Amino acid sequence: DVHPETRAFEADVAKLLHLMVHSVYSDRDVFLRELIANAADACEKLRYEALQTPGLGSGDTPGITITLDPEARRLTIADNGIGMSEADMIEALGTIARSGTKAFMDRIAAARDAEEARLIGQFGVGFYSAFMVADRVEVVSRRAGTDSAHRWASEGLGTYTIEPVALEDAPAQGTRVVLHLKEDAATYTERLTIERLVKAQSGHVPVPVALAEKPDAEAQGITDGSALWTRPKSDITSEEYTDFYRSVAGQFDEPALTLHYRAEGLHEYSVLAFIPETRPFDLFDPDRSGRMKLYVRRIFITDEADLLPRYLRFVRGLVDSADLPLNVSREMIQESPLLSAIRKGVANRVLSELDKFATSDAQGYARFWDAFGAVLKEGIYEDYGRRETLLGLSRFHSTTSGSDWRSLKDYVAAMRENQTAIYYATGTDRDRLAASPQIEGFRARGIEVLLLTDPVDSFWAGSGVDYDGKPFKSVTQGQADLGLIPPVEGEGAPAPAAPETEAFIAFVKTVLGEDVSDVRASDRLTTSAACLVASENGIDRQLERLLAASGR
Ligand code: ADP
Repeated sequence: DVHPETRAFEADVAKLLHLMVHSVYSDRDVFLRELIANAADACEKLRYEALQTPGLGSGDTPGITITLDPEARRLTIADNGIGMSEADMIEALGTIARSGTKAFMDRIAAARDAEEARLIGQFGVGFYSAFMVADRVEVVSRRAGTDSAHRWASEGLGTYTIEPVALEDAPAQGTRVVLHLKEDAATYTERLTIERLVKAQSGHVPVPVALAEKPDAEAQGITDGSALWTRPKSDITSEEYTDFYRSVAGQFDEPALTLHYRAEGLHEYSVLAFIPETRPFDLFDPDRSGRMKLYVRRIFITDEADLLPRYLRFVRGLVDSADLPLNVSREMIQESPLLSAIRKGVANRVLSELDKFATSDAQGYARFWDAFGAVLKEGIYEDYGRRETLLGLSRFHSTTSGSDWRSLKDYVAAMRENQTAIYYATGTDRDRLAASPQIEGFRARGIEVLLLTDPVDSFWAGSGVDYDGKPFKSVTQGQADLGLIPPVEGEGAPAPAAPETEAFIAFVKTVLGEDVSDVRASDRLTTSAACLVASENGIDRQLERLLAASGR
């Protein structure tokens, strides 16, 4: 009879296993994601190899079956994928092939506390993470197209054994991974736990996952294995998009805009993203973080990769990269040049789609603007490079727009002769702004004034922005320079400066003293006697109020 052969792990594996066995992770759940990812990969590899070698494999639909055995405290993950030969097992389950893993280990060894280790744990380390929850792992596998099967087994303590097994004790094709769970890991034999984890971590794995509650029970499907974004657009119905949007965004409305495309060339990735119709509840969370998910080859990696700038945080969906390594860590993500290329590409695409939306469906765009304009405008001062684009996408109310939205293009087209600036007033209430004395002189000259009522407006409008070469100018700030623009008939002409004005100004200066920096005659008033304005370089009045209110 054949004795199992005992082999020692490569030194790095032994180290890694030591870390796993004595793991400080509070987040051990990731082991399941890793094993399902491997099983799905094996199915995809078989799919691919069968293209080259017709007849390879049983021809069964690829699938992953999880079997629970609470009594024996055992969890089995089986796939009918490519499988492993003896040599494959020695190579794959005895060494560390992945370059990222070494870096990961150094990091984990250096992690100072449990919190740090937990963050690292979100990225898992492949097969060996099984030892976080199991004190013995067996892998029985038969490579597709071969007539032998082997069992690999280890307790994660420096050695493993490998031995041939009878074909009737092995899967007909593919791999069965059996975890003998640690005492404190019994929860992984509970149906609800596993179902929840599979849906949350591997819900979009492109191979269906089924679950058997007991060894002799029939397996029930939990995910259907279709990664919607990998299918051609023309095959996908709008109901499917909506369902997917709802599940990925946690929203219950319809998407206002759906972006589904594949970037090819230097970097290959797919994007399926949605702009909601209504504001998500967390839109104004202080952390302002986005919810775009990062996938690598259909395996979920993280939703904290900051795939889009903060001012596009209302966009929901995912990016699936074909080029990133699966075990990419959060730190590596932040620094990866590939990710910055993806970020740039996706943000540009979202903005260009919004631009198309604005041109093709003004009403729909107006609804979008009602919901998310205040957020998008944050980009005007945060994203210098896209400022002009963002200003072009922005919509405003003004002294002439009534309740309609105006674009800056509209504004510029309607500028008076000799008008050099885009004038705006900031405040909290549109009607009060429209009635304010600062605006009288503008109205008299037929000059449109933008009425900005979002808190964010005070920040960008005063930051030295211009559009189409025209600077933004607050009506409450500095000299209004309206002298070159004649009043419009019937609007009530501004009072001509009388000789008494000089004397009156001198008088007012004496009375107000240090409280004001200057008193001048102004073109901006028609019927009101006086108004307060900020100096040319001083901060805008509304911003001053906001800052005072926030205690700064
Ligand atoms: P990675 O999957 O990133 O390569 P793992 O440590 O998770 O790293 O797995 C190591 C290797 O073991 C895989 O690359 C694969 O060759 C092999 N392997 C693991 N699980 C399976 C499986 N279910 N079927 C076939 N091969 C597998």
